[in-house]
Order: sequence, then C-alpha cells, then structure tokens
Amino acid sequence: MILSDRVHTFGQAMISRYGERVHKIAIDAGFTCPNRDGSKGRKGCTFCNNTSFSPNGRRPPSLPMQIKMGRQVIYRRTRARKYLAYFQAYTNTYANVKTLQALYDEALKIPDIIGIAVGTRPDCVPKAVLNLLSDYQQQGHEVWLELGLQSSFDNTLEAVNRGHTYADYITAMYHAHQRGLQVCTHLIVGLPGETKQHIQITLDRVLELGVAGLKLHPLHVVKGTQLANQWRHGNYTPWTQQQYVDTAADLIEMTPEHIFYHRVTATANKGSLLAPTWCQHKWRVLNNIEKELRLRNSSQGKTYYQAPDRLRKGK
Ligand code: SF4
Repeated sequence: MILSDRVHTFGQAMISRYGERVHKIAIDAGFTCPNRDGSKGRKGCTFCNNTSFSPNGRRPPSLPMQIKMGRQVIYRRTRARKYLAYFQAYTNTYANVKTLQALYDEALKIPDIIGIAVGTRPDCVPKAVLNLLSDYQQQGHEVWLELGLQSSFDNTLEAVNRGHTYADYITAMYHAHQRGLQVCTHLIVGLPGETKQHIQITLDRVLELGVAGLKLHPLHVVKGTQLANQWRHGNYTPWTQQQYVDTAADLIEMTPEHIFYHRVTATANKGSLLAPTWCQHKWRVLNNIEKELRLRNSSQGKTYYQAPDRLRKGK
C-alpha cells in the first residue's frame, strides 16, 4: 500500500494537474530572517539552528547551479521532467520586491521550472510581494506561498520566540485569498507545552480560514538551538514516534480531501539531530502513518464531516 492511496499528496495532485511528475527543488537563496537580524528579534526561533546564521557559515552556490544539482538528484530517483523552484531556506520574501522579482525571474526562465514555491513567515508578506506572486500565477506558473505558522496559540508562538502572532497569519491569509494565491501552511507537531488537542485546534482554525496545502513537521531538537538547551536540562520532552504517527493520522482524517498534503513528516540532518532519533527515519514514519490509517480503515477527510458546521462552510 502507498500513502497516496489514503492521503491527497502534493505529488499525486501535481500528476493530476500536469499529467506527469512535478518535484520541488529546494533552494537556499542566501536570505536571512527578521527574527535574526534584529528587525523582529536576534535570537530566532528556539528550534532554529543559529550556527547557520554566522556571517561566514553560509555561501550557497548560484541559483542555476543549485537547480542543476537538485534536478540531477531528483531525476535519478523519479525521472521527473518538470520542477518547482522551492525557495526554502529562511525567509524568502525578506527583500525589496525588485530584488525578489529578479530572483524569481531567474528561476522561472529555466525551461523545466514551471513555477515557484516561496517559504516565508506570516509577518513578512507585504502586499507588493503578494501582487508579484499573483502576477506569476496569472501568467500560468504554478505558484505556492508557503507560510510557517507552526501553531495558532500565541502563548506557544511566544514560548518558541517566533516573533509573530496568529493574527499575522489571519492578515496574511486574507490578502493571499484576495489574490487567489495557493497557500501551503506549515504546522509543527509537538511544540513545547502543546498536546494533541492544541494541534487539532490549530488545524481547525487553519481549515476555517481556508488553505490549499498543508505540511506537518515533528519538532526536531537540533544542535546549536535554544531548544537543545531546554532538552538537555529536561525542560522539553520530544514526542514518541507513536504519539506523532497517531496525531498525524488524526490530522489527516480531519482534513478535507481537496487539500494537498505537501508533507506529513520531515527528517533532520543526521549530524545535527539530537532528538527524537526516530526522526532520522523518514520512510519508517511515513510507512507507519500509512499503516495507522489502514488499521483505522481510514483516509484523508474521514472525520472532516464530523467537524463543526463552521468547517464545512464553503466546501
Ligand atoms: S525558524 Fe525561520 S523564522 Fe524562525 S528564526 Fe529560523 S529562519 Fe527565522
């Protein structure tokens, strides 16, 4: 059995839309983040590795080179012939709009790059940037705005030093919807002080506002983070794999079928991951999520129809 039999995966959605595989090529375009450079804060999120922000620590290759290298790896594995340039590292809207346009244009002029996915924070999407993304979409490119919300609870966002609020997300979504943009919202499962109920409420809120895609991510404790210190001192306990799998299955069941899951788990670099160690084995976790759904005789959307009326509006 495969996960896409039970989950509306981004991969399957792209095959339906384009008749062939479309894969994202992850790019580090050399951005920083307002939660690091002092504009919002200097410490960054407690789970974010700060060594990568050292001035000499990061010199990414040119954008065409990154695309070439990413394409080679993905092509060998999948034979895909169409790609999205995924501006993934840090805050990829954190520059003036002319700079952003030059960067996105550089990617989009490569023939097999049919679109872009832009990862950013909810407090860093000015209208001019949304207009630019909307223009690309209207030109026929596949465009995704990937918003890192992580939690809808302001006390959690404060505890992990996100430097933005849930209200910022509501505002960003309002302006993205006005422009018909596809948004993929990122959520973290297992944030300090949160239970399964918290992430379920966060998903309810995200669904109520409307979203086209979702990413689920277990919280990783990686070296060089404030979270690593909390974990060492016993002030943070990572979730077990079973807790994560059970919760991911619940969230998938709660999600209406038309929403694409871009990701239902994530792995961390083996050299930097401290805990939980099961996060090293992405495929095992994916298989276990599929198995959990199979044991429940369930799939995406199964419990959506039991959700409060407000969640069914607009369906
Ligand atoms: S996790 Fe993202 S938003 Fe937080 S400090 Fe790191 S780059 Fe910035």
